[in-house]
Amino acid sequence: MALAITTKIEATCHCKSHSFTSIVPTSSLPLQASLCHCTSCRRCTGNLHTTGTPWPSLPEDHSLERYEFSPNVFIFFCGKCSQKMFWYVPKTGAYEVFTACLPHDKGLLQYNNHIFVGDTIDGGNSAWLLNPHPETGAHNMPVPRWAGFSDKSDKLDADWPANVGLKDEHELTHGDELPIRCHCGGVNLRLARPDYRNVDKDKVPWFVDPISRRKWLAINCLCNSCRTTFSVDIVPLSFVEMKSIHSTSPGSSNFPNNVNDLSEAVAKGDSAVGTLTRYQSSAGVIRYHCKRCSASVFYTNTNNSSRQEMLDLAVGLVDSPDGARAEGMFWWQFTNNANGDNCSLFEDVKDGWRAEVAKSFRSERKRWRERKGWSVDEQTVEESQRESEENGDMLI
Ligand SMILES: [Zn+2]
Ligand SMILES: [Zn+2]
Ligand SMILES: [Zn+2]
Ligand SMILES: [Zn+2]
Repeated sequence: MALAITTKIEATCHCKSHSFTSIVPTSSLPLQASLCHCTSCRRCTGNLHTTGTPWPSLPEDHSLERYEFSPNVFIFFCGKCSQKMFWYVPKTGAYEVFTACLPHDKGLLQYNNHIFVGDTIDGGNSAWLLNPHPETGAHNMPVPRWAGFSDKSDKLDADWPANVGLKDEHELTHGDELPIRCHCGGVNLRLARPDYRNVDKDKVPWFVDPISRRKWLAINCLCNSCRTTFSVDIVPLSFVEMKSIHSTSPGSSNFPNNVNDLSEAVAKGDSAVGTLTRYQSSAGVIRYHCKRCSASVFYTNTNNSSRQEMLDLAVGLVDSPDGARAEGMFWWQFTNNANGDNCSLFEDVKDGWRAEVAKSFRSERKRWRERKGWSVDEQTVEESQRESEENGDMLI
């Protein structure tokens, strides 16, 4: 059988209101994608980075919503499910598709560049995506990381940034609250840290760091629903109690403290919830995003009795002086299988190009720990730092 000369690629959003196709020469695969870690990309999506690859054009009669990301760049997104689908540069007529819109097909796509990593301060998750295609191989491994634009800024080495050393979480975040902000400013809230220092050890909830008892659990979800609403292949989420979220608009009511009140406040257009709008992605699951800039903000599960007063927050919206991962506020884990949730690591991505990326993401994190002389167990960065200080290791 002759090999196909062309390959048809489909880009769709979660709710399937929008679907576009592109025909590319099969010889041009895998598509090459660039990851941008800039602060604007994080605030406009709720993710730790955005990932795009060139796309030929859009039909003139498409009905996607448009957001002016900057004077020279627009984002087109689905007004219903919020999936961010395309970048557009009017001056050049160039389009890029958000890779999260594309299928899992093996060999379809490779990550080949990291830009604006300097904005993250802590590296975001770029340090774990240096060799995302160990099985299929790629022409430029490790994937270069640039402080700003490719070839026009400093190229960062594999160990960037240097360890900051063991610091109190309060010191890392310059206080006990951090802003939650979307790109357009329509969502403008504050997140307070948990404090379970004065309870028995077995009373510390699963979503709070058992060591400091003052950080929320954060994970990376790879499920199809998160990917196609947040619009990134690896979605950073933290689990927080709603009583720790506060409204900032003067004179507004308090931020709702349970998932049903949140849904009602958004339906009524309550000023406490700013420009939030909602989308039901499956039975009982309501996701919230900014209706203006499309940033993904919250995930809620109204059917889960233990989740009535908590929600999942998009980490990319949290503005912390210690960096994109906000390690002073969040306790990072890679999966949340242990707590029985259904956002699993490989289930949704098995066999496709994302499975290779996901496996590598995890093993690179292990290598990153080894390079720093930390334990390779599934410990938090803080635990690792404490351990190496206790062992008298020099922190670089
Ligand atoms: Zn949609
Ligand atoms: Zn960017
Ligand atoms: Zn916004
Ligand atoms: Zn998920």
